[in-house]
Amino acid sequence: MTAYPLDHTHDTNAYGWPTGAEDPQTDFPIQNLPFCSFAVGMEPFRLGVGIGRMIFDITAAEQAGFFPEGLEAELAACRSGRLNAFMALGPASWRRMRHALFELLSLATLGQKRTDMATTCLFPMAAARFDVPVTIGDYTDFYASIDHATNVGAMFRPDNPLLPNYKWVPIGYHGRASSVAVADQVRRPHGQTKRPDDAEPSYGPCRQLDWELELGFFVGTGNAPGHPIAIGAAHQHLFGATLLNDWSARDMQAWEYQPLGPFLAKSFLTTLSPWVVTMDALAPFRVPARPRADGDPAPLPYLSDADDQSAGGFGIDVTVELRSTQMREKGEEFDTIATTDFSHMYWTAAQMLAHHASNGCDMRSGDLFGSGTISTPDPSAVGSLLELTKRGQAPITLSSGETRSFLVDGDEVRMTGRAVREGYRAIGFGAARSIVVG
Ligand code: CA
Repeated sequence: MTAYPLDHTHDTNAYGWPTGAEDPQTDFPIQNLPFCSFAVGMEPFRLGVGIGRMIFDITAAEQAGFFPEGLEAELAACRSGRLNAFMALGPASWRRMRHALFELLSLATLGQKRTDMATTCLFPMAAARFDVPVTIGDYTDFYASIDHATNVGAMFRPDNPLLPNYKWVPIGYHGRASSVAVADQVRRPHGQTKRPDDAEPSYGPCRQLDWELELGFFVGTGNAPGHPIAIGAAHQHLFGATLLNDWSARDMQAWEYQPLGPFLAKSFLTTLSPWVVTMDALAPFRVPARPRADGDPAPLPYLSDADDQSAGGFGIDVTVELRSTQMREKGEEFDTIATTDFSHMYWTAAQMLAHHASNGCDMRSGDLFGSGTISTPDPSAVGSLLELTKRGQAPITLSSGETRSFLVDGDEVRMTGRAVREGYRAIGFGAARSIVVG
């Protein structure tokens, strides 16, 4: 039996009945069913799944008795409006819930039941507010793109861009969970910076605000302290993925990062898409781990698993778009700045998780880790302005004629992601979207 099974919920011929679910361009066909925490008006946040242009309210559906018997534990775990308790139940429960939701939202559902559900359980996405659907205990950010690590390293060490540990260790640092948010604004951080010609540092607004285009992975089930997660089992501990923008203040980062790494240059905000796409939904889009170049070391045994090597990567296109104040006021659309592909990552999500727990550190339901900036060998397909503009030396030009080395106030950054594969319905991640304010 394969480690990553497909079933009828991945069938490309299946369709959902809610509005917009049949649209070939939707991020949310019935094969996706991503989770969110949403609210309408002044009501409290509750858990739902996205389908077409609608949100299906899990708690309202439970109260109205639409779910079949046998899901008592799963539905009880969903009542808090956050996913942690549900995630802690493990993969069998996740799959049971996916199958039940698929049943309710499929075109095969009987007409009268559909009408009743539409009245009580469906809300338009456009009318909803969103929050992070998980209480995040700990957040870690990895550095798993060898192309990103090489690009950034080359700015500081042109002759020796990659440090000697890179191909052995999935590099990461502990981030800040309190400032991970679904946020429509990013407030320009203030901090300490020192330009090369300055005699002393000063405190003031960041002048080199940047994005980092990443995927975030949520830990579903953790491990007991002192008991690492085996690489072959790591995928079963992962619940799902989201888009993640690791906002970065490059001038603050350059001054503070030695010797202990990123600190205040990163911790002011990390933006997520409202949607958590489950690993079950992503199963058709698995691809082999990036092949290692001749001469690269093989991963050490605790990071090496045959299934993970053959299908631990994901073919996901991620895009960053930008719109200036001027473009918005003229009613112009976003410019696409870069599209990159997650399949180029050097380390798999399972390797990152197994490494994180390999010292005995306990991971908990709801922990989040970022993949690191998703770049590729193509210099135009990279996940940060730092790389696109060569640290500000080669500004990009927008369709409005404006140029950018780094972000200015009023700039609007939108990240999207889509998994596409011949023979399967494409699924997407919605958008992580924020405007820079001073
Ligand atoms: Ca990052």
